[in-house]
Amino acid sequence: MIIILNKQVKPSQKEDIKNFLKDKGFKVKEIVGQEETVLGAVGRATIDHRIVEQMEGVSSVVPISKPYKLASRELKKEDTIVQVGNVKIGGQRIVVMAGPCAVESEEQIMTIASQVREAGAVILRGGAFKPRTSPYSFQGLGEEGLKYLRKAGDTYGMPVTTEVVSPTDVDMMSKYIDMFQIGARNMQNFELLKKVGRTKMPVLLKRGLSATIEEWLMAAEYLMANGTDQIVLCERGIRTYERATRNTLDCSAIPIVQKLTHLPVIGDPSHATGIRSLVSPMSLALIAGGASGLMVEVHNKPENALSDGPQSLYPSQFEKLMRDVQSLSTVVGKSLERIPRIIPSSLTDIENVYSDSDKIAFQGERGAFSELAVRRTFDDKDVLPCEKFEDVFETVMKGEALYGMLPIENTLGGTINDNIDNLINYPDLVVIGEQHVRIIHNLICLPGATKEDIKEVYSHPQGLAQCSEYLNKELPNAKAVPFFDTAGAVKYIKEKNDKSLAAIAGEPAAVYNNLEILAAGIESHPDNYTRFYIISREENAINFLSASKANKAAMIFNVSHKPGSLFNALKILADYGFNLGKLESRPILGKPWEYSFFVETDILNKEEAFEEVVEILKEECSSFRVLGKFNSTN
Ligand code: PEP
Ligand code: MN
Repeated sequence: MIIILNKQVKPSQKEDIKNFLKDKGFKVKEIVGQEETVLGAVGRATIDHRIVEQMEGVSSVVPISKPYKLASRELKKEDTIVQVGNVKIGGQRIVVMAGPCAVESEEQIMTIASQVREAGAVILRGGAFKPRTSPYSFQGLGEEGLKYLRKAGDTYGMPVTTEVVSPTDVDMMSKYIDMFQIGARNMQNFELLKKVGRTKMPVLLKRGLSATIEEWLMAAEYLMANGTDQIVLCERGIRTYERATRNTLDCSAIPIVQKLTHLPVIGDPSHATGIRSLVSPMSLALIAGGASGLMVEVHNKPENALSDGPQSLYPSQFEKLMRDVQSLSTVVGKSLERIPRIIPSSLTDIENVYSDSDKIAFQGERGAFSELAVRRTFDDKDVLPCEKFEDVFETVMKGEALYGMLPIENTLGGTINDNIDNLINYPDLVVIGEQHVRIIHNLICLPGATKEDIKEVYSHPQGLAQCSEYLNKELPNAKAVPFFDTAGAVKYIKEKNDKSLAAIAGEPAAVYNNLEILAAGIESHPDNYTRFYIISREENAINFLSASKANKAAMIFNVSHKPGSLFNALKILADYGFNLGKLESRPILGKPWEYSFFVETDILNKEEAFEEVVEILKEECSSFRVLGKFNSTN
């Protein structure tokens, strides 16, 4: 049964309820949701619900109609997010696990790990204990294989998963792996389920060859009843009379299961079809059906594979599939989980992973306006200059930088769309702050150069355009040469060491490169400001945010392609009295002429109302995400 607690329940009341239920023979699990806290009481015991309903702190009691209780959506409405190493599975993410059917040698798993990671897989798979139909087939390398798998995972920064076939192997295996895989043949090996469940480690639970959806969920219930709630279900095809494929992929199981349980469900097109050419199309079918990810067999030399070669993709085919999955993920309102952001040796030690670096990443060369924004926010932190905006997101994801500083809009040039798109594409990063910088342009040249010497002026096209009045008046004969960024232009003229070259950039770029400012404040419009966002991994946001009160929120949502759907979403915000700031639309890849909407709103002293609005918008919109709540002091 589900015991829904009062919002104001006291901790002592909650303890009393729990103890009462435990005394009656129930196992009790507390689930803290966004809307309410509930207790799930499961077990063989029976009790008159009315007795519990009358206890202090209880709002209501609802029986769970399904035979699986802990796994049921009735008990927990929100999606469970399973954490494997530093990869999250579930919610709006699409996670791809890949690797060979079996670990065959150290060299083989290292090669394949490097290839699948390069293509974008985030979890490495590879069997060390192979349950084979024939006793004469290759049975796996056992513990030796686990060592190779672990080494490959560590080297390429991927958590690893492998199949466990015997309860006696569980303790030994837990030292090497990040997630247990329970194979189709063992889905109802209850002793194995109990033993694995007790480790509390993440589990990938394959659907049995002839298991109904209910039996499959009951197997998940076994794992949960024994201790783990970190379960990913995997549809891998079922046995039917059809012989054209190895098994029959039950694609419709995906949306059905997702409705019945809060646990994420992924698909395995390799074992479902057994045929290489079917793996990619069925992968897309699974994603289209709502799967939270895929498990795909990939081999560098499938023709020599010791098991399942005919269904293993070549690395190049896998790479192509990953591109298709990425495109499709936006169509279904999800984002592809990125290549791991893990500092390999500390896979299990999340705190260390992220405190390792306290650098601040920004795009551009040293002395760029973004660096100025970094300095305004963080006095004494080291910086990490990146070539592209996307690299800033990547370095923050990987833990190579603690935070990133990104321009979002300029008062003259408008929105920097690339960064709105990047925010959409990196669901695990949040916006934690804002910084404004006035863009003051300077004419920078080599020491001793005069205006008369200058023949060419380098800068970002916007820098050149923003100083056109000065250039026309003061340097009418100099040629304006577009460059990829302002500070980069300064570095370039320094390297050329030519007095006839000048650059337009901010003062820090001149200081950093030891060059001279020939004229300062040469921009045509003094009202030239750039607004920056500070981004962070969720787990690192807390320290930064505790320093100040959030007064602004940014969110991104998709609405259905129907008249009034955007209006309805905005009206909800208006009805709650939220004052909107910025509103942008961005095209959704793969859905021509459909858009994601980016919205900022003031939330000062309205945080509670904002939480309410978020819940309503989550229901109303086809996808909805708060990018961050932060303090905008400017
Ligand atoms: C596997 O993934 O290696 C495997 C044996 O799969 P299944 O249990 O689905 O047959
Ligand atoms: Mn296999």
